[in-house]
Amino acid sequence: MSNIEQTLSIIKPDAVERNLENEIKENFKRNNFKIIKEKKIQLEKSEAEKFYKVHETKPFYNDLCTYLSSGPIVVMVLEKEAAVIENRKLMGSTDPKEAADGTLRKKYGISIDKNSVHGSDSLDNAKTEIDFFFRD
Ligand code: ATP
Ligand code: MG
Repeated sequence: MSNIEQTLSIIKPDAVERNLENEIKENFKRNNFKIIKEKKIQLEKSEAEKFYKVHETKPFYNDLCTYLSSGPIVVMVLEKEAAVIENRKLMGSTDPKEAADGTLRKKYGISIDKNSVHGSDSLDNAKTEIDFFFRD
């Protein structure tokens, strides 16, 4: 039975700044993700705060939102069988120091805050996040 899902991916400011956009997209394509939609934008801080609202009580919330709005990002809708979990696997652990070999965060991440990519963590959140960026 097929289980094609869509998930939201963001190439974060640290990776865009280092011109890793195309290289990261190639990783997705090599791993059989289809890039269904994409756009390069820069968020206002208030938009980053809305996007990361689940983290609003965390000590790192303010820095996280400042960072996500600090430069251009590439937002993509990725599609694949079990896309949500498959993207989380390809990304690796939140902290690049703990990420497994071959994962995007291991290859490209600088630190726990500059970890190069975001990916939805559940199918429900994927729908909410896709709607956040691509509701027309
Ligand atoms: P993302 O949501 O960006 O895909 P994630 O789902 O792996 O990352 P979350 O727990 O949702 O991790 O945290 C959101 C972001 O907040 C992380 O990507 C990271 O940059 C930052 N973050 C998480 N934990 C910490 C921490 N302990 N210290 C500093 N920053 C953190
Ligand atoms: Mg998360």
